[in-house]
Amino acid sequence: MRIFAQRALLPQGWATDVAIDVDPSGSIRVVTAGASRSRDDVPAGAIAPAMANLHSHAFQRAMAGRGETSAHDGDDFWTWREAMYALATTLEPDDLHRIALEAYRAMLRAGYTTVAEFHYIHRDPRGAWYADRCAPAEALVAAAREAGIAICLLPALYSQADPTGAALGARQARFATSVDDVLGIAAEMRARHRGDAGVVVGVCAHSLRAVPLAAFRELLAGSPAGVPVHLHVAEQEREVDDVRAAFGARPVDLLLDTFDVDERWCLVHATQTTASELERIAAARATVGLCPTTEANLGDGLFALAPFLASGGRFGIGSDSNVSISPIEELRLLEYGQRLAHKRRVVARDGARSTGEALYALAADGGARACGVRAGAIATGRRADLIELQTSDDERDDDATRLDRYVFASLDPRPARVMTGGRWRS
Ligand SMILES: [Zn+2]
Repeated sequence: MRIFAQRALLPQGWATDVAIDVDPSGSIRVVTAGASRSRDDVPAGAIAPAMANLHSHAFQRAMAGRGETSAHDGDDFWTWREAMYALATTLEPDDLHRIALEAYRAMLRAGYTTVAEFHYIHRDPRGAWYADRCAPAEALVAAAREAGIAICLLPALYSQADPTGAALGARQARFATSVDDVLGIAAEMRARHRGDAGVVVGVCAHSLRAVPLAAFRELLAGSPAGVPVHLHVAEQEREVDDVRAAFGARPVDLLLDTFDVDERWCLVHATQTTASELERIAAARATVGLCPTTEANLGDGLFALAPFLASGGRFGIGSDSNVSISPIEELRLLEYGQRLAHKRRVVARDGARSTGEALYALAADGGARACGVRAGAIATGRRADLIELQTSDDERDDDATRLDRYVFASLDPRPARVMTGGRWRS
């Protein structure tokens, strides 16, 4: 199959009359700029790589927009977490499937073609295992495949209430897993979905709050080489204080001192970090998972984007609590947060690229890496996961500002069409 695009965002920038040959498995075989259109080509306007959503808890979509009133002063991440626990204790696998299907369909329409699902509701509401202990994981994967979005399933290790090793509370009973539980669920899900390129199974530790270092080490040792490894890290100041009190080190420093962190790792949030921690993450080639709308909704704080990018750091974006399902809203807020904090403009930079294009291209590439999929760029060997931008009736439409207008100025920030693995889905 051959797509013929009038304009395409290639790794080196926008190109004209681009032919993209896609093999039967959905991977890009060859990209040719300045091509001539043949009769059988599938025509397209301006296309760009689709986005990976590198951090989602699909079930939290059910409480999106429902936590915005307060009976007292002092609402914060920790009070929100109590409300989230109250929801989590009620859901059965059928509910997870229904909520996730709606969320994943919205993600695809918004231009996400892969979702990393950070999955920690493993047990039933009383804390017992389901007869099929993969039932909740299976509900999520089934929802993703039904929606037509690729999924990187990340079963979470979650075994203590805080870094001192305190036992989980009653409302966390559904999340409780041992290393063997997580490795068993991951292995079973890999076996069930072997041969489906749209299902990647990685592994995650909930956080350095919820997982002892020795157990995290065992989890890594028992996982297949090269699978994605994710964790929440340094989201909250209290979390930094708790980890420092228990270990004498800040969470990111502790992580990098303890483990061989490399490019298969995704450090979600990393909001509370020092300049030296950011440099160390960048040097390790790990991806930082930024979730600007959720981080703003929960009052987490702002990631220090400019110094991280200056160190060559990689990032991707995630919808996390799914209060928003839009890569454009994430990127817009990411850049605007920096501008408001630093009282300057055009913060995100990547060589000569404009801000919108830099944000978009870096997040697409970083997100795909973090999800363990070869996508995120229009290039040989990458999956043909693409978006077609809405046709512009602006006579000033040009390559230099196309993605800036998409990121900062679109009234309906959704693509005209979304392609996964060489097939238009919406
Ligand atoms: Zn999260």
